[in-house]
This record gives sequence, C-alpha cells and structure tokens, in this order.
Amino acid sequence: MLKRVLIANRGEIAVRIIRACRELDIETVAVYSTADAQSLPVQLATRAVCIGPPRAADSYLNQTAVLTAAVESGCDGVHPGYGFLSENADFADLCARCGLKFIGPSGDVIRRMGNKAAARALMQSAGVPVVPGSDGPVPDAETAAQVAEKIGYPVLLKASAGGGGRGMRRVYDPENLIPAFEEARAEAVACFGDGEMYLEKLILNPRHIEFQILADSQGNVVHLGERDCSIQRRNQKLMEESPSRALTDELRTRMGRDAVQAARACGYEGAGTVEFVLDSAGNYYFIEMNTRIQVEHPITEMVTGLDLVREQLRIAAGLELPVQQEQVNLTGHAIEVRINAEDPAHDFRPAPGVTRFLHLPGGCGVRVDTALYNGCELSPWYDSLAAKVIVHAPTRLQAIRRMRRALEELVVEGYPTGADLAHMILYHPDYLKGEYDTGFLEQNLESLLRLSRVEEASE
Ligand code: ADP
Ligand code: ADP
Ligand code: MG
Repeated sequence: MLKRVLIANRGEIAVRIIRACRELDIETVAVYSTADAQSLPVQLATRAVCIGPPRAADSYLNQTAVLTAAVESGCDGVHPGYGFLSENADFADLCARCGLKFIGPSGDVIRRMGNKAAARALMQSAGVPVVPGSDGPVPDAETAAQVAEKIGYPVLLKASAGGGGRGMRRVYDPENLIPAFEEARAEAVACFGDGEMYLEKLILNPRHIEFQILADSQGNVVHLGERDCSIQRRNQKLMEESPSRALTDELRTRMGRDAVQAARACGYEGAGTVEFVLDSAGNYYFIEMNTRIQVEHPITEMVTGLDLVREQLRIAAGLELPVQQEQVNLTGHAIEVRINAEDPAHDFRPAPGVTRFLHLPGGCGVRVDTALYNGCELSPWYDSLAAKVIVHAPTRLQAIRRMRRALEELVVEGYPTGADLAHMILYHPDYLKGEYDTGFLEQNLESLLRLSRVEEASE
C-alpha cells in the first residue's frame, strides 16, 4: 500500500480522499492556496503545504509547486481528485518521472481518452457506438460548416479538451454556425488553454447515462452499473440517480459491456466513467470518458457497497479488484443533489460568501460530502459546489422521500443555494415517474422557480 499521498485538490473531494486514506492508514499531505488556509482538508490532513496565491493557475494548477510539495514531504503517491490536474496527461507523466504514483491511469491513456475528439475515433475502432460527427478535430469554422452540412442540423460544437459543460454550443441553423464556432473556441481557450474543436450531431433531449468502471493493473475490468445524470442546466449536472429508470436489464447489460470494452480498448487502469447519451428510441452513443473520480461517484458507492476512492488507492498499489462482474450487486436506489452556492433567481450566478450558519441533514440512509463548517468562507476563486447530499433507500420512491426530508433538514445561511429548486424537482410528476431527459430542467425551470418562490413566501 502507499504510505503518504499528496492530495492535489481542494474542497469536498479533498476531504473525501483524506477519509479514504485514513481508513487505509495512509498519511495525507494537503496542498492549499492562501485562499484556503483555513479550509477543512488543511485541518484534516496529516500535513499541509501552501503552494501559492488564490488564482488556480498559480496554485492548484501549478505543477511545479504541487510536485515540489510532494517530493519534499516524502510522498509516494498523488491523488488529483476531479477538475484541476486530474485529466492532465503531462502532469501524470511528470508524477511518474518524480517517482510518484499518479492515482489514475497513465499519461498515455489520459492522452488517448482525455482528448474527446481522439477518444471518439478510438471508440469507433473498438466497435462502441459514437454520435455521428466529424472524423477527429475540425481546424476552422468553414470546415465545421462543411461537416455540419453533411451530417445535418442541428449539431453540437464541442471542445476536445472540454469539461464541466464548457466550450460547447448547439447550432440549429447554418447561419449561426460560424459565430457559435468562434464563441465556443474562445471559451475553450479561456477555460482549458486549448481551442481544438470537433462536432457531433445534436441528439434532441437525450438522457445522460454513464457507467462507472474499475480496472486493475492485472487487466481485470468491471462496471458498477449506471448513473442517470439527465437533470442538467447548461450541460452541467445538478442531480443524479442510480439506477436509471430508462434502462432495462437487457440495455444495462449491453451498455455495461460496451463501457468495459471502452476501458479495455484504451488500456485503462483505475476508476473511470464512460458517458453515453441515450435517445428516446433506445439508441445509445458514447460521448466521452472521464479518466478520474467523478463528482457523483457516491451514488454508485451507495448501490454497490464499494468505496471507490479506496479502490483507486488499492489499484494504485497494484492490488486486484475485490469483485468480478458477477459479484457486483446493485442494491436499492441512490440519489445525489449538488448544493451549489449560486442564485437560481438571478440566472444561477455564483454567490459565495461566509457560511454564517450550517446544519447538515443526517439519519438513516443519508450522507453529506462537504468541506463546509460553521463560519467557513466559501471562496469566490473556485467552483461553487458547496456540498453534496446523497441518500440511499430500498426503492426509488423511498429514496425520493428521503431526499425531500434531508433537504428540509439542511440549513445553509450566508449565501443562496439551489437546494429549494432541487426540493421542488422531487415533487414534479415527470421526475416521480422517472420520465425526464436533459431538456427537463430547461423546460420546467420557470414554473419550478415560481413554485419555490410561492413556497418561500408562505413560510
Ligand atoms: P462530473 O461528471 O464529475 O461532474 P464534470 O465534467 O461536470 O464531471 O466536471 C467535474 C468538475 O471538474 C467540475 O467542477 C468542472 O468544472 C471540473 N472540470 C471538468 N473538466 C475540467 C477541465 N478539463 N479543466 C478544468 N476543470 C474541469
Ligand atoms: P463535458 O466534458 O463538458 O462533460 P460532455 O461531452 O460530457 O461534455 O457533454 C456534456 C453534456 O452535454 C452531456 O451530459 C449531454 O447532456 C450533452 N451532450 C453531449 N453531447 C451531446 C450530443 N451529441 N447530443 C445531445 N446532447 C449532448
Ligand atoms: Mg461529461
């Protein structure tokens, strides 16, 4: 087993990783920017090292600072969490060159799958269905227009380096293609420092279905079932559940097999997620693989009973997977709600601040992953995820009822959050029936917000 792991991240995921390490008797080194000096991971880790000023480019994305901290503090592993350096192939290579085990796949695998245009091509050759689109990247807007003509409108322009829903634009008419291309490319350059673009046919209101996979260094690969992440705003996930109401056992078996095939085709090692869109006719298409732990991993932990971060650490130490595919049992139903510090009444603008009062829900089947504590400051420098509320229950309806009451117990004072909106969604007839797709929130947002205002006024 590894002895001392540096956590190259912050917030709830840093806390999550520290917890798994402690249970395995692994020491932890937290790195932090000056904005995070008082943060929970800094207080929970065995040691903490300041790596720079608040701007992520100067701290959490500063590879030299992170690696220096790891080497000087005698670490033998680096866990990148999600976001930041987690899908940076050069960083994974540098870790290896410094004698540090990068907890994730090798740099080569990240290069193969982290570039979304390259991953599409690889999946096609492995026989995994992909959305019709360009063969690899498109160099400029004019080429994009030609490809769009060929595959037919509407199309979706996407950044090869994209993530978190950024660098994407839907285009319904030819006249909008060129401006949308330039806009999306500019956003990709700003967010990811890489303007490479490709395009796909826009599948109208599909479901987002993703499969969690685990692969060890001995070539064993399993999938741990799916997560339905169709409750999205601007292509960003807000609420997730497992299992999905949209899948039959037969479809689950086929998609799971393709997810495992995807992982094998790229020589995967570690925990990863294969994302698909599923159309209303039951056709599914690969969209990308996330070569890291994901925000919504806890719902898979709830239905499988496995600790995914523990498994990441065990795989990194060269150990075999604890289960074979036939031994993976999916039990009950799990839901996650992301509590973001943003204001739904003002176009979800980020609204961080000081947590004046905090009360977290608890009780049977409730889990909260957060780095918040009473009085802590939620920093404006980083993304607005403040907490994740996760529930598990024997049936879907019980899980929905449990999530409603968990959100009713939750108190966060000091800034607005999307908790009330999520609470309203849990009463929507289509949500209750499990009949929703990625267009659901956009179509229902106005009425849901109106209802939550009425609710607030009557309190
Ligand atoms: P998940 O399914 O884990 O939510 P997302 O793609 O939504 O995956 O990303 C999770 C987090 O990581 C978000 O906070 C997002 O802003 C961030 N992120 C994802 N990809 C990148 C990237 N390439 N560069 C920087 N941040 C990223
Ligand atoms: P990111 O790297 O930002 O997570 P993804 O490729 O995973 O980007 O896409 C984000 C979301 O955009 C998906 O969850 C899905 O809702 C939507 N999406 C992606 N590709 C398509 C497509 N071809 N047609 C329709 N919706 C799509
Ligand atoms: Mg995605």
